[in-house]
Amino acid sequence: MSTPTFSIHDEVRIKELLLANGHKPFRYAQIENAIYKNFITDFSKIETLPKEIREILVRNCHYQSLRVHSSSTSADGQTTKFLFKTHDDKMIEAVIMRHLSGRNTLCVSSQAGCPMACVFCATGKLGLIRNLDFSEIVEQVMYAADTLDKEGRKLRNVVYMGMGEPFLNYENLKRSIESVTAQKKLDISVRRVTVSTCGIIPGIDRFADEFPQVSLAVSLHAPNDVARSRIMPVETTYPIDQLMASLDRYVEKTNKRIFYEYIMISGITDRIEYARELAVLLKDRMAHVNFIPYNPGEGIMGDGMLPTSRLIIAKFQHELEKAGVPSTVRHTMGDDIDAACGQLALKENGESLATEQGRSMGKIS
Ligand code: SF4
Repeated sequence: MSTPTFSIHDEVRIKELLLANGHKPFRYAQIENAIYKNFITDFSKIETLPKEIREILVRNCHYQSLRVHSSSTSADGQTTKFLFKTHDDKMIEAVIMRHLSGRNTLCVSSQAGCPMACVFCATGKLGLIRNLDFSEIVEQVMYAADTLDKEGRKLRNVVYMGMGEPFLNYENLKRSIESVTAQKKLDISVRRVTVSTCGIIPGIDRFADEFPQVSLAVSLHAPNDVARSRIMPVETTYPIDQLMASLDRYVEKTNKRIFYEYIMISGITDRIEYARELAVLLKDRMAHVNFIPYNPGEGIMGDGMLPTSRLIIAKFQHELEKAGVPSTVRHTMGDDIDAACGQLALKENGESLATEQGRSMGKIS
C-alpha cells in the first residue's frame, strides 16, 4: 500500500487543496456527496467533478487507511466484528449489531488499545498503543454504513464503546462526531450517538459544554470507592464522589439521562449490598442502568472471572426498581465471535501488553 497522503475525510485540508489549485469552494459539496452519500471510493469515478479535480484527489488523498484484517459474523447473523489493521499495522476493532427491532448500531474504537487497565477488559490488557486519528474513527463508521447499505439496511446508531477511552483522545473524538453527525456527511442523528467513558472528569465537563445532545454512558461497575478501585484504576484519580458531582453538572447543563454501565462479575461486582448502595447512589438522579453480564471470552481474559447468574442480576434490578431507578440487562451479542471489546485484538497480539499508564492517567490528551 502506498504511503497515505491525507484523508478524504479531512474537510479543512481538502478545501485548502481546492483553493490552492484555483477551484471554487462549491466543488467540496460535490466531493462530499460522492463520498458520503454514494460511497464512491475511487476518486477517478466522481463524474460530477472535472477531470483535473479528480486527478488532484487521486494524487493527494486516500479514502480508507484501514484495511480489514478479518471479519466474522455470529451464527445468528446479528453481530459482525471487524478487525482492522491501521496503516502502521495496529489492530483495532469495530462491531455491527443488527438488533431484531431493525435498529443497526456500530460500536467504534477511539484508541488502539487502552491505558485504563480495567481488570475485566481485554482491551485494558493491551495497554495504550496509540490514539486513533479522527479519520480512522470515521472510516470505521463509513465501512459499517457501506456494509449495511449493501444489505439494504441503514446505520442508525454509533456508540463509542469499542477499544479505548474516548475522552483521552478528545480532539479526535470531537472531529469524528462532527463528521458522523453532519447532515451532508454521514447524517447520523446526534441523539443517536453515545460516548462511553470510564469516568474522566475533565472530559465529561467539556463534553457537556460541546455536545449537549450526544448521549453519555459511564462505566461505573461498582457503587463505592473500595469496590471500584479493585477493578478500575481510574478510581484512584477520579473517585466516585467527584465523578458523581461532574455527572450532576452534566445533567444540569444537558437535562439528559445518563446511562450507567454495570458489569456483573460473579463474586466481584454482584454482592447484594452493592445493589442497595447503587440504588442509594442513583436514586433521584436521571439515570438508567445497563447491567452487562461479564463475557469471559475463551479463557483469554485469565483471572478466572465468571458472569453473574440471571437470578442475582434480577435481584439487583429489583433493588433499583424499589428506588425508582430504571435498568435493563444488556442482551449479549456475538459471544461466539469474541465480540466483547478488545478480545480479537488481544488474541491477534498474542500476549498481554498491559502497561502501568492507566494508573497514572488523568489528563485529556
Ligand atoms: S473498559 Fe474501556 S476504559 Fe476500561 S480498559 Fe477497557 S476500553 Fe479502557
